Amino acid sequence: MTTSSQSTPTFLEHNGVFVLDTQHMGFTGTIATFLVPSKANDGRFILVESGPGSTVKTIEKAIQDAGFDPKALGAILLTHIHLDHAGATGNLIQTHNPDAHVYVHERGAKHMIDPSRLMDSARRIYKEKMDMLWGEMLPIEASKLTALEGGEGGESFEVLGHTIKAYYTPGHASHHVSFLFDDGTLFTGDSAGAKVNGSAVVRPTLPPPDINLELYDQSLDTMRQSQPDRLMLTHYGQVLNPQEHFDKVSAANHQWAQLILDDLNAGLEDEAIINHLHEVSIAELAADGTSQEDIVRHGVISNDTMSVAGLKRYWEKHHPEALVSS
Ligand SMILES: [Zn+2]
Repeated sequence: MTTSSQSTPTFLEHNGVFVLDTQHMGFTGTIATFLVPSKANDGRFILVESGPGSTVKTIEKAIQDAGFDPKALGAILLTHIHLDHAGATGNLIQTHNPDAHVYVHERGAKHMIDPSRLMDSARRIYKEKMDMLWGEMLPIEASKLTALEGGEGGESFEVLGHTIKAYYTPGHASHHVSFLFDDGTLFTGDSAGAKVNGSAVVRPTLPPPDINLELYDQSLDTMRQSQPDRLMLTHYGQVLNPQEHFDKVSAANHQWAQLILDDLNAGLEDEAIINHLHEVSIAELAADGTSQEDIVRHGVISNDTMSVAGLKRYWEKHHPEALVSS
């Protein structure tokens, strides 16, 4: 494993995959983008995820620190189009290599060609903090975009000598895919929870508006059956025990969903539910010996307010019968 020399490393290399740290909002180890060199090792590379639009400069520096020229960008593979995963795509391509291709699920494709609706709805959520948090999202030319289906058994394609399988993995987002490379690395985006690198505790990734726990579980099964040797989580880094990790993700998702259902049925207001979830979550991390710094990171990668909103919507939309009518 090699790291860059500064006190805050911009990248880590794990067996041929470079984990680039976007250092979003000054937090290290929360949002990654991944650089995979071409099979021919000719300097060209693939990015899996682009990182947020607000972190383009950091990503460019991380690419260079890892020993690559941003102009050698060959393709960007997106697990889904949420701004922390896909925001910088258009900017990186327009600046460095307009010929680079983008791979994304077919349901996300139109938003990459015209991000205006995606950006408008994000602006309604983040309001005046929008630009600072996420920056700009530039459009991609339709001719540069490959729309994936990722259906039954995965969809194979080749990029820079790598054979890659895209698996359709909804549950977090209806347009989510996960990418299995031929070296056994599965890039899971937000389809397999989140955890701070090195921590044993797994956190749910359950923000609105698409959360569907049944689909999430099916996607975990799809990924189990793909038998990856390791995972790369966008939030954050390498996981070497995939099967155990998948079990923990499913358990954590259902534990949080149940907590929120019970609180809703007890008549608690949103703020009280958020506080409750926060307490339970912190206690679990503390019991595992998680450092204060990593507890803060966990709060960033798995935000309590978003989780409560996402799960509340899940119960109301998919299981209104489980809610005690008020
Ligand atoms: Zn997401």
